[in-house]
Amino acid sequence: STVPTKAILDLEDQHGAHNYHPLPVVLREGEGAWVTDADGRRYLDLLSAYSAMNFGHRHPRLVAAAHKQLDQLTLTSRAFHNDQLGYFCAELAELAGMDAVLPMNTGAEAVETAIKAARKWGYQKKGVAAESARIIVFDGNFHGRTTTIISFSTDATARDDFGPYTPGFDIVAYGDADAVRNAITDNTVAVLVEPVQGEAGVLLPPDGWLTELRQICDDNNMLFIADEIQSGLGRTGHTFACDHEGVRPDIYILGKALGGGILPLSAIVADRAVMDVFKPGQHGSTFGGNPLACAVGREVIAMLKTGEWQDRALELEKHLIERLESLDPSMIKELRVRGLWAGVELSDKAPSARLVCERMAAEGVLCKETHVTTVRIAPPLTITPAELDHAVEVFARALAA
Ligand code: PLP
Repeated sequence: STVPTKAILDLEDQHGAHNYHPLPVVLREGEGAWVTDADGRRYLDLLSAYSAMNFGHRHPRLVAAAHKQLDQLTLTSRAFHNDQLGYFCAELAELAGMDAVLPMNTGAEAVETAIKAARKWGYQKKGVAAESARIIVFDGNFHGRTTTIISFSTDATARDDFGPYTPGFDIVAYGDADAVRNAITDNTVAVLVEPVQGEAGVLLPPDGWLTELRQICDDNNMLFIADEIQSGLGRTGHTFACDHEGVRPDIYILGKALGGGILPLSAIVADRAVMDVFKPGQHGSTFGGNPLACAVGREVIAMLKTGEWQDRALELEKHLIERLESLDPSMIKELRVRGLWAGVELSDKAPSARLVCERMAAEGVLCKETHVTTVRIAPPLTITPAELDHAVEVFARALAA
């Protein structure tokens, strides 16, 4: 028996915090690129839980890994070792081509971990004076919701009335290498960058910019920290969005898809020279590195190791571009695509992105707007070309209506 959608929406409205504005769809089941609502209606998922669902809903390999581990051991804390964590660290380090891994749970926690690593590295390795480390970040960034992270957000909605704010961050224009150079001081320990800005609307940096950033970091003894929480693990047609330019950061920050869409699992990955600034007791998390999350994460890593998912994203990219270019050009201001990930910036002739998403939902395709004018498309990498065609047809109708 099913509870009607309206009753569930009312319950959440009455008893839940109002910190989100979801589309009025109540989902109950998912498989691959498809989800089903409480009334039995099916929808194609073009959001993938902000790219946490890169492998689709309930991928059989991931579900099996979770079930197997559920029957063995789920949580030990880090007071003891468990038989999954070592393998998880070794396998993720190998996938990233780096030495070591520090597991956390959510994306924001991993970002905090990278910030702490960079600061400690700055004091202990670079010789920055106590309490004065600075990190360069970018206009339009999204790195999470903690008080420190929102301290350097440029989005008033994310930031206002949550102060006092954490100092130590310099915000410069995304894609501007000179702005980075001008912001550097002797105390600058790192640049923290999204290689593609996801929440900002799938903003792609200018060609060559990540390479230039790498050079700037090398020239100034600063760490290059790549927040690949949304861009990493197959979405862009590569294991990491930095691979698009062959850039190797000093720290990868990973999350979302790392937990296979089953549970929260995040991590930073770095070489020993950076990771070893952490000594026992200086950082941690009760659930970080738990065997259940590690078992699922290991399966995710095994799936990415073959390169099939990355290749699939690249193939679907071609198809997606071709289809999106068939949309009425007067409705589109800009099309930004990297892998199976698109930001469709609507023109002022088009309906609002929110209205477009509501119309698409009514026709069984789930998308979420970012800001007022962008529709983000990030389907599970399991989606088929025919399903993409269908989604873009629905998109076209929503734009026209
Ligand atoms: N960093 C990036 C680039 C993200 O896109 C997100 C989430 O959207 C985060 C960090 C925060 O991750 P979480 O919501 O798991 O804390």
